[in-house]
This record gives sequence, C-alpha cells and structure tokens, in this order.
Amino acid sequence: MDFHEKAVAGEAEVVSIEPAQRREHLVVVGNGMAGCRAVEELLARDAGRYKVTIFGAEPHVNYNRIMLSPVLAGEKTFEEIVINGHDWYVDNGIELIAGDAVVAIDRMAKTVTAASGRSVAYDKLLLATGSDPFIIPVPGKDLPGVITFRDMKDVDAMLAAAGKGGDAVVIGGGLLGLEAAHGLTLRGMKVTVIHLMNTLMERQLDEAAGWLLKTELERRGQTVLTEANTAEIFGDGKVDGVRLKDGREIPASLVVMAVGIRPCVGLAKEAGLEIGRGIKVDDHMVTSDPNVLAVGECVEHDGNVYGLVAPLWDMCRSLADGLVDRHSGYRGSVASTKLKVSGIDVFSAGDFSGGDGAEDIVLRDASRGVYKRVIVRDDRIVGAVLYGDTADGNWYFDLLKKGEDVSDIRDLLIFGQAFASGGGQADPKAAVAALSDDAEICGCNGVSKGKVVACISAGACSVDAVRATCKASASCGSCTGLVESLLALTLGDEVETGPKTMCKCTSFTHDDVRREVVAQGMRSIPEVMQKLHWSTPDGCSSCRPALNYYLLCALPGDYVDDQQSRFVNERMHANIQKDGTYSVVPRMWGGITNPRELRAIADVVEKYDAPMVKVTGGQRLDIFGIRKEDLPAVWADLNAAGMVSGHAYGKSLRTVKTCVGSEWCRFGTQDSTGLGVKIERMTWGSWMPHKFKIAVSGCPRNCAEATIKDFGVVCVDSGYELHIGGNGGIKVRATDLLCKVATEQQAMDYCAAFIQLYREEARYLERTAPWIERVGVDYVKARLVDDEIGREALTARFLYAQSFSQEDPWAERAAGAERELHTPMGVFRPRPQLAIAAE
Ligand SMILES: Cc1cc2nc3c(=O)[nH]c(=O)nc-3n(C[C@H](O)[C@H](O)[C@H](O)COP(=O)(O)OP(=O)(O)OC[C@H]3O[C@@H](n4cnc5c(N)ncnc54)[C@H](O)[C@@H]3O)c2cc1C
Repeated sequence: MDFHEKAVAGEAEVVSIEPAQRREHLVVVGNGMAGCRAVEELLARDAGRYKVTIFGAEPHVNYNRIMLSPVLAGEKTFEEIVINGHDWYVDNGIELIAGDAVVAIDRMAKTVTAASGRSVAYDKLLLATGSDPFIIPVPGKDLPGVITFRDMKDVDAMLAAAGKGGDAVVIGGGLLGLEAAHGLTLRGMKVTVIHLMNTLMERQLDEAAGWLLKTELERRGQTVLTEANTAEIFGDGKVDGVRLKDGREIPASLVVMAVGIRPCVGLAKEAGLEIGRGIKVDDHMVTSDPNVLAVGECVEHDGNVYGLVAPLWDMCRSLADGLVDRHSGYRGSVASTKLKVSGIDVFSAGDFSGGDGAEDIVLRDASRGVYKRVIVRDDRIVGAVLYGDTADGNWYFDLLKKGEDVSDIRDLLIFGQAFASGGGQADPKAAVAALSDDAEICGCNGVSKGKVVACISAGACSVDAVRATCKASASCGSCTGLVESLLALTLGDEVETGPKTMCKCTSFTHDDVRREVVAQGMRSIPEVMQKLHWSTPDGCSSCRPALNYYLLCALPGDYVDDQQSRFVNERMHANIQKDGTYSVVPRMWGGITNPRELRAIADVVEKYDAPMVKVTGGQRLDIFGIRKEDLPAVWADLNAAGMVSGHAYGKSLRTVKTCVGSEWCRFGTQDSTGLGVKIERMTWGSWMPHKFKIAVSGCPRNCAEATIKDFGVVCVDSGYELHIGGNGGIKVRATDLLCKVATEQQAMDYCAAFIQLYREEARYLERTAPWIERVGVDYVKARLVDDEIGREALTARFLYAQSFSQEDPWAERAAGAERELHTPMGVFRPRPQLAIAAE
C-alpha cells in the first residue's frame, strides 16, 4: 500500500524525523489549506526555528480543498490536487500524524491528545481546524444517503452514489452546492438544486447574474428550484427523496447538503479559549492564550469570519511573521469569489448592494452571454459582478482593494483592463504591466504578480516552470493567460513558448484537447467546453470548428456534425467569392466526365445565368457567379444527373487528379485514371484537419503532379510508388517517398491508412506538409510501413468511419474483396444499413 492507499484505508500514518537538537515545538491541529500554508510561510522565513508536528483528522496528505469540485467532476484525480505530498513533510522534517483527530488540549500542561490516545507536548499550538458543514435540522437528515461536501471522504461517497445513477438533490444553490450539482450531473445523475432564496448564489451575485446562472444550469439539464424550503428528507432506512414545505416531493437516492459552514471551534471551546463566531484572534492570529494561535476558517478576526481561501493566505503571512518576531499584523481581507463550474464563468467581489451614492456601470451582451456590473462610489470601485467573461476580475478586485481613483478611466472601465490601460485600444500586455505587484494572479494558490515575476526572474522560463515553482496556474488554470503575459513581459524573447493554446477561449493546446476528448469520452462541443473550463460561453470561430472536427473524428457515426461550427463554404457546399456569389464544382470522379454530366453543367450555366465556367487546377469544372438563393436548386439539378458536390470546398478530400495512364498514353505503365476514380470514391466525404489533395500519375513523367499532393501515386512498371506530404501552394513542398507497393489494392489501403493517421493525429488546420515536418517522415513510415498490424487497423478505422459518409467505401475495393476487415483490433465492416443495401 502506498501512503494514499493507507490513508484511504483509514490507517493513521506517522511521518517522523528525529530532531538533532531541542527546538521549540510547534504543533499544528489541522492538515488543511491554512494549517499547511502557515507552516510553508514559517519555513520560508526561518526553516530551523521550530520543530513541527501536524495532526490531521483526514487520512491524507495536504491537498487543495477547492479542487474537490474538479475531482468530483472527473476532471482531476486526487493525486493532481495534492499541494504537499509525502516528500514535503520528510524533506522539511515535519512529523505528520494523519487520520488521528486531536480530541483534547491541556493548556496548563501544554499538551494535545488525539483520538488514538497519543499525547504530544507543544511550546506553541496552532489551531487550523477549518469549518464544519452546516446540517439543516430537518427530519431525515441522518438517513444514509445524506452527505455534505467538505472533504475527500464526501467526494468518495458521492462518486459511489453516482456510480449507481438515479436522482440527486442538492440542497443549497451557493458556490458549493452548484459545484456539487455540476459534478453529479457530469457523473450521470439527474440533479435538482433546491435553493431557499429567489436567486442563486445571492451572497455573491446580483439578481441579473443569478438569473443568467440559473438559466444556463437549466439549459444544461439541471432542475433549479428557487424559493424552495426543505421540510423533510424522507426514506425507509435510506434516502428516497426530499419534501418541500409547499408539499412538493422530489425523488432522490442521494441528498447533498451544501447550505453553509460553521467555524469548527469545539476543541478550542472545550479548552476554554475565547470564542465568538469563531476562535477569537488578534492581528498575529494569537488567541486568548498567548501560546495558542489559530488560523483559517475557524477564526474570528475583528468580528469577521471567512469562508474563502484568499483571506487565509493573508492570515498565514501575518501568523508566520509573528512566530519569527516580525510585526506585520493582519488587517482583515476583502474577498472575491469565482465559480469553478466549468464553462460558466462567474466572479464577484466587494459590495454590490448599491444604495446611496453608488453608481452602477453595466454591460449586457445577451448574445455572448456576458453581463458585467461594476459598482463605483466616490470614484472608487466598491463591488464587481461578472458573468460570462471574468477575465478582468482580478483587475477590478485590485482596484477595489487599493481604493484607487478610477475617474480617469471611468468611460473605459467596463470594457476591461486591456482597453482602459491601452487608452481604448485592446492591449493585454499593457494591462498586465499595469497590475500592481501585490495584485492577485492565482486565486487558487494565493500567488501575487510580484511572486510570479520573482519566480520568472529566478529562472522559470515557461508556464510549467512557473507552476512548478510558485504554483501560479497549477490548479484550475484560469490564470494561465495572465502568467503567459507576465512571462512575455518579464523575459521578452527568452520565453520558452510551448505548444500554442487552441485559442483565447482555453489554456489547453490542440493536443491536450484532443487527448482529453478521447480520454474522458466527451460527446459534444458544450461538454468539452464545460469540462475543460472554456473561458467563453460558446467558444469562437477558431475553437468551434476544431472541436467539431475532433469529435467527428473520435466518434464516427455517433457524433452529430454541428453545421453551425463549420465554415461557410462547408455549410453551403460551394465556394463564396469576393462579390458574394458562389462557385460550384460538381464532383467528377478522377477528372473524367461524359456527355450527360457536361449537358447537366451546361444546363445549369444557362438556367442560372452563370457568367463563367472555368477548368480548375484539380481538373474539374467550376461554375462561377451562382446566387446564394439558387444554390439548392443548382445542386438538385446536378444531382439529377448523378453529380454530387460533397466536401469539394471543405476540410476534406478535394479532388484526385489523374493522367490518362496506360489506357491511352504511350508511356503509361498502369491504369492511373481507374485507380484515381477508385481512390476518389473511397475517400470523398472524409472530414480531415485541412483540405486534402490526391493525384495519380501513370508513369514517372508525373503529368498529374503527384509529388506536390498530400498523397500521390506514381505508377511505375513494377507497381506504385506512394508519396506523402506534398504541397503546391504558397510554400511549395515536394513529397516524401513513403514506400513502393505491388498492387492497386495495396495502394488504396496505404492511402486509407495514411489519411486515417493524419485524421487522428494532425492538429485541426494543419496540412499534411507541416504535420510531417513536425512529426518526421520516419515516424509516419514506422506507423505505416514497419507496423503492418497498426496499418491494417488504421485502414479499417478509415473505412469504418467512411461508411457513415455518403458513399460505401467498400464499393470500390477490389472485386471479390470481403465486405469486412479482420484486424487484431476487431472486425470492421460498414454500418449495417449499407451492408444490407448492398446485398
Ligand atoms: C468543495 C469546496 C470548494 C471550494 N471552493 C472554493 C473556491 O473556489 N474558492 C475559495 O476561495 N474557497 C473555496 N472553498 C473554501 C476553501 O476550501 C476553504 O476556505 C479552505 O479550505 C479553508 O482552509 P482551512 O485550513 O481553514 O480549513 P480546511 O481546509 O477545511 O482544513 C481544516 C483541516 O483540519 C482538520 N481538522 C479539524 N478538526 C481537527 C482536529 N480536531 N484534529 C485534527 N484535524 C482536524 C480537518 O479535517 C481539515 O482537514 C471551497 C471549499 C470546498 C469544500
């Protein structure tokens, strides 16, 4: 068993390092966010000053509690949210006693006693016991199936319940409740959120934003009942549902209570410490006993208790200063909140209740789902509520905390920092430069701009290096853009730019997104945006087509193509020209035509007054000047003559160019037109990362220019040379020779396998030429030539995917070929209706 497994099994574990000499002993009760951060701050100031022992009631190392929501949602594993692993305790000589709660404090003897009976003496005691979830005292609250959302044990319980499916009720429409509801929905449960007030998250959001949030959650399939008061949780030996005061009953096999928290003060109270709403502390977090300190959610400072992490970081700094005899007292915190429910960006800070002298500056953009409200009083920001676009949250919060006079930028304030700092021009760099050193960059880990810059100056030259050193951007990732801007600002050209993010809506790269789509079995564009924390509600013109493509590729036959996520040419099956009319290129297989097709084209040209017909570089006829409203009729007329359009304009196979080959040419070695037709029929309709061109030349004179195509066949006396990765566009590139094969069938199978490898591995909008240069031709050869089994599987996957396009890809395979492919990965055959139709 490793440490985590033992911890989960509930075995208390002690990590112990014997001290070399007697030092003051600091005992920490609570191995959570504040307790461990306080120790980190102390170590940073004077690592040798105290011997440290930490007791934790939970059987785990120190983890990031705010990331429990992503764990519930399946976006992170427990290992990924650990803040300080086993090594941290060992390396810093800290004794961790996990899974053993402290049950008594003897302040006279200066000892603590744990549930196991273990007793430890202290010189200084730090209480960091956090909060207890509040349980509403209704009948049925103790039934099995009623749980809270506070720690890993609760997440495990929810996951076990969700594994059985069914209905869940979440009581409480605040931050925690909504994150629980989101996670359970993603885990397949039918979730109803019950909220007492008339809008969700009413403590953080104004009515307008609360309403937008409710609408979005309902759109995602959750039922949200506001002004709903729980009367009873009913069930026979286990939860069966919730009854509301108005008599409504909601069935549920799981009820999550997320109605609030209370500082966990029982231990301190028993020990006789002064208690108000929390454990009372002074500006150095010292309780009524000078040898006992307290920090985190369990404390009350200056009449305030806190339920968010940001204030804890401030408290921990002051506490550590006090422990090493420095004097920077804690003065209280203003907190801001972000909802981590993926794809729904919500931010709020300060006071948004309005009132006398408060002016509201509001921006509403309903079509983008954006709502921003900044509340200004006496030329200073006192509150901000952002929905849909929270990029400027930290900036507003910084101005708010500093009480800066915003009268000079008032007109631009609502458009965000990039505009305000750039004097009306969007200038993201200027925006980050304008942030003060103590402006918060990473809310999850409490990292300021100054800290990030210091860490970059000390040698962290990439986002990963920053994450590893100061933890900024290491949790939810929403501040990655800010960290990147700081890298660019601090290092200029020396920034190690990793792979580019897909677009401004996400901090993930194309490869990350693609990997996650497959790994997490995502099935729709909204699901990807939701699970991967898209920063915009509906994505943009860069990411939507890419996501549509990745899903199409991952789920052939299953995923329904999202036409709205396609470029206009693909939607219209025609090419838009500069005067707004369209050009139409009917497909002519292999570049061969006949009188019937030519007549149909001529008829269309006359009937729709097309001003020009042009032979294309790909050997097809292009009819120019078709009005948009005539396009459906044009296609109908051409289809009547057996001509299809299909993907001639899209990110897909364009044409297969051929020369006349052995049938007519004196030099022709093989039937290049025949092979071209077969390849075109096999491959048309296959969506790809970018446009894809093929050519088949009948002899090495190469009249079809096969060596500047994505896939080219050059026929030779002894067979077929297969070429890949050519391009005749702006950046001309000659193909690489893949291999030589003996038969037409082999040429077709290699072609299918090559296209499938490209479809599965190239990034959206990456042509084959740059893809091959990126991965190397040796890699492609290894996959297609050396790995015979892998190649057959690729061919099979291509043909399988193709069976969902308009054509039956088997139709043109060699006569007598079986209509199924047996591969080590299974038997592939066309979708059933095609097979039946063919019989
Ligand atoms: C699901 C979830 C999502 C959240 N999301 C956000 C967010 O997005 N933003 C934000 O700002 N805040 C968020 N929070 C709140 C944030 O996690 C807390 O503010 C923070 O964890 C408080 O830190 P703490 O150390 O005071 O308490 P905790 O992190 O709860 O640590 C207290 C620890 O003390 C232990 N303990 C208690 N009594 C004893 C005892 N007698 N002996 C030994 N150990 C004991 C507890 O088991 C616990 O491990 C979220 C909280 C949850 C539960």
